[in-house]
Amino acid sequence: MSDLDLTTYAENTWCKGCGNFGILAAINQALKSLIGEGLPPENVVVASGIGCHAKIADYIDLNTFYSIHGRVPPTLTGIKLANRNLKVVGFAGDGDAYGEGLSHLIMSAKRNVDVTMIIHDNSVYGLTTGQFTPTSPAGFPGRSTPRGSIEEPLNPLEIMLASGATFVARGYTTKLEHLVDLMKRAINHKGFAFIDVLQPCFTFFNTYKYYNDHVYELEDHDASDLEAARAKAREWQRGEADKIPVGLFYQVEEPTFDEKILRDGMVLAGKHEVPDIKRILKSMS
Ligand code: SF4
Repeated sequence: MSDLDLTTYAENTWCKGCGNFGILAAINQALKSLIGEGLPPENVVVASGIGCHAKIADYIDLNTFYSIHGRVPPTLTGIKLANRNLKVVGFAGDGDAYGEGLSHLIMSAKRNVDVTMIIHDNSVYGLTTGQFTPTSPAGFPGRSTPRGSIEEPLNPLEIMLASGATFVARGYTTKLEHLVDLMKRAINHKGFAFIDVLQPCFTFFNTYKYYNDHVYELEDHDASDLEAARAKAREWQRGEADKIPVGLFYQVEEPTFDEKILRDGMVLAGKHEVPDIKRILKSMS
């Protein structure tokens, strides 16, 4: 573990009790551990989107970039393509990632961009004081849905598995060591690594008791088995009675986007073998 101090002079303005503190503590420990193992700190870039989560870019003393709403995944892609030596870690809220930016998230998973995405999933827009998001449970009585949301929540893990993500995990902010381990494995993974972190919003949607009562750690799960991962991902549909597995659901190694598009730092356009489109079309008919 490196003794590098990753704290900054910025005043932390998250509410007391916010789950974001757990994510900040976990990423600090994960990065310090990786730096201690030889990762040069100047080779780490952190980017965030818009929302309470995004302030994390102010609280980590490394190269950081404040992105725009929903656009963290393409920001990470650009950084990675500009310098393949970098470890690129993105943070986004559930509204940011699954609302404004869902198509970007899906395309990054589909392309297997070699970056890590960590989602602060609190099922509420906290910065704008409590509106429902794509992961809010049906009936959620937020500021924009005072009579309860009429929508069912989406399942981010199922979406990521269907989109081609090669590392899919879920963590919980109060399980700090478990989350640190997931983050280290995600950052070390070659390809698109995704962690949905259950992050209670203490002020607008306090889910600590619900998660403490229902979360359990995955054991005896084969993370190379896509169907097993899908089954585990479906175990929690954000219903009251469901058990909530956390851990590594799925991991495989596939060629990455930057491997396919770049070689020796040069774009391959005009240098790679052009596929025989007639033969491809014939094989599809
Ligand atoms: Fe955390 Fe919610 Fe406060 Fe935002 S509003 S800092 S998510 S507790």
